[in-house]
Amino acid sequence: DLGRNRFCYFSEDLERQLFKRHELITLLRTAIDTDAINVYYQAKVDLKTLKIVGAEALARLTSPTGKVISPLDFIPLAEETGLIHELGEQILTKSCIAAKQWYEDGYELQIAINIAAKQFTNPHFCASVANILELSQLRSDLLELEVTESALMHDFDEALTILNTLSALGLTIAIDDFGTGYSSLSYLKFFPVNTLKIDQSFVKDMLCDEQSLDIVRAVIHLAKSLKLKLVAEGIEDDDQLEKLKSLQCELGQGYLFSKPLPLDEFEQLLRQQAITGNKQEIDNTGH
Ligand code: C2E
Ligand code: MG
Ligand code: MG
Ligand code: MG
Repeated sequence: DLGRNRFCYFSEDLERQLFKRHELITLLRTAIDTDAINVYYQAKVDLKTLKIVGAEALARLTSPTGKVISPLDFIPLAEETGLIHELGEQILTKSCIAAKQWYEDGYELQIAINIAAKQFTNPHFCASVANILELSQLRSDLLELEVTESALMHDFDEALTILNTLSALGLTIAIDDFGTGYSSLSYLKFFPVNTLKIDQSFVKDMLCDEQSLDIVRAVIHLAKSLKLKLVAEGIEDDDQLEKLKSLQCELGQGYLFSKPLPLDEFEQLLRQQAITGNKQEIDNTGH
């Protein structure tokens, strides 16, 4: 009967999911053990000059068949299984070493690294960041950690202590996906936050949806009055760029400038820009 069939269908589906989940955990474990986690870098640009002023590190996992697995699939799993701590350390280490190398090569770029909620509240996290700064010899103000509002709101006092410790190391803190999380803004008064990153959903919709535009405008004003840096995420076309510039938004990221690129391709982009110094030469045909 119908009820029974539905149950069977559900059960098979669940089994398939569990299998996939198990496979993914094994893949993640192996990638961590063999140092096979890839870090891609996406340019952060000054919207006025289109100069690259920083990069965001974005983790990539490749399956044995060569398929690239999205962090949206493996980061939550890494958090659930506790693998996030080792994974996060590897990403931090690789990214800080890369940024130090760029600095040595004459490119003073700030590297921004995403920190998962569970990683952030690990009691060893701050010491681990300090160690990685020491090991990589990266100037600490060239490191920015991106956290989401929900990571901070879980335990306000704990978050405040952690952020103050991190901030004392000389690095900066960005709130990622700003506008999609917690609804109270008062935490911005208490936390040592340097940067807001407007979520890409608002940028995506702002030219066809008045409310999204209002939110973008409000976040830009908020950042200005609190003297925070502001980054618009997900800029894909010239109209969005022009609109953001007219609203005095200073920094941005998006496919219009460059997709996230493997290290060697990102460095090629830096060299190209150093030679030509203009937008036409920014390659947006990457991965
Ligand atoms: P996020 O930190 O908000 O990163 C921005 C995401 O938007 C990235 O997706 C990036 O590739 C994508 N993106 C950038 N420009 C554009 C654009 O113009 N259009 C569109 N449609 N998308 C754009 P990605 O790399 O798939 O990462 C997804 C999320 O996974 C990140 O969101 C971040 O929350 C998380 N993540 C990625 N790498 C790491 C990591 O190393 N550690 C942790 N904890 N989380 C990570
Ligand atoms: Mg981010
Ligand atoms: Mg974001
Ligand atoms: Mg996100």
